[in-house]
Amino acid sequence: MRSMTSRDAGHDPGRDARADLISYLDFHVEAGVDAALDEAPHDRFGEAEAAAPQPEPSPRRTPPPAPRAPAQARNEAQDEPPADDPFRRELPSRDPPSREAPRTYGNAASAKPGEAADDARARAAQMESLDDLEALLRGFEGCGLRFTAKNLVFADGNPQARVMFVGEAPGADEDRIGKPFMGRSGQLLDRMMAAIGLDRTGAYIANIVPWRPPGNRNPTPQEVAICRPFIERQIELANPELLVCLGAPATQTLTGTKDGILKARGRFYPYRLSDGREIKALATLHPAYLLRQPVQKRLAWRDFRMLKAALDAGR
Ligand code: URA
Repeated sequence: MRSMTSRDAGHDPGRDARADLISYLDFHVEAGVDAALDEAPHDRFGEAEAAAPQPEPSPRRTPPPAPRAPAQARNEAQDEPPADDPFRRELPSRDPPSREAPRTYGNAASAKPGEAADDARARAAQMESLDDLEALLRGFEGCGLRFTAKNLVFADGNPQARVMFVGEAPGADEDRIGKPFMGRSGQLLDRMMAAIGLDRTGAYIANIVPWRPPGNRNPTPQEVAICRPFIERQIELANPELLVCLGAPATQTLTGTKDGILKARGRFYPYRLSDGREIKALATLHPAYLLRQPVQKRLAWRDFRMLKAALDAGR
């Protein structure tokens, strides 16, 4: 009598290894890891310091944080909008161009966050046009996110528009294409705008942070602090009559409120420009949240009617 071997049992080690690899990849995709950067971690800060001759040794910095677990990642949810919702209308598809940003590993990303934010503010203040600001951001190395992002995501829409929407940070689709709100959240934002007669020719769209945080994690407070002078200057240069803050991070960053978004939404906040003028900033729910919680679209619909009333009153 012969004992049973793995071959007798139909066991194929090659197939097992493949199945193991697939479940290993599945595990990472489930955990929100959707970009393979390399097989082993790199100390980019150390590399940058070693590569460039420096007059004085600079202190070691903390590398950008790794992607987090799914609970902390920003999600584009699976839920479908209810049939009767006002944001449901089908819209023509877009065909946006993709832009490649140069990837460099300079020294500036290893500056202290406070120094990088001061540097960002000083440089942003000197920009006299949106094109100059975009060019500045393309060369800016003070925020570690630019080293993991594929593209700068500066803006979409019409910079002359009366209304400017500001979201949090790009996701994978936006990073690939180089424009904000291109994925499922963007499609919902387009339907929300269409419900009040707006499209991207009548709105300007940007984010608080113009580079995708790896794995869709939330931007850190330091990253927001470094990027904030840029979005503030972008708002000044676009000079809209009305701002719309999409979600809590945009609302809290631009209005200074500490309230959660369900409390903050549905209100106009004063937003002061550097020349002293004040415009109104409406807080509302982020489309990604509405994809996860479609029942809350009724609240966003109220906010969008307020926006429409404000636009109509300002004509
Ligand atoms: N979410 C955002 O906040 N901004 C985008 O551009 C896309 C998704």
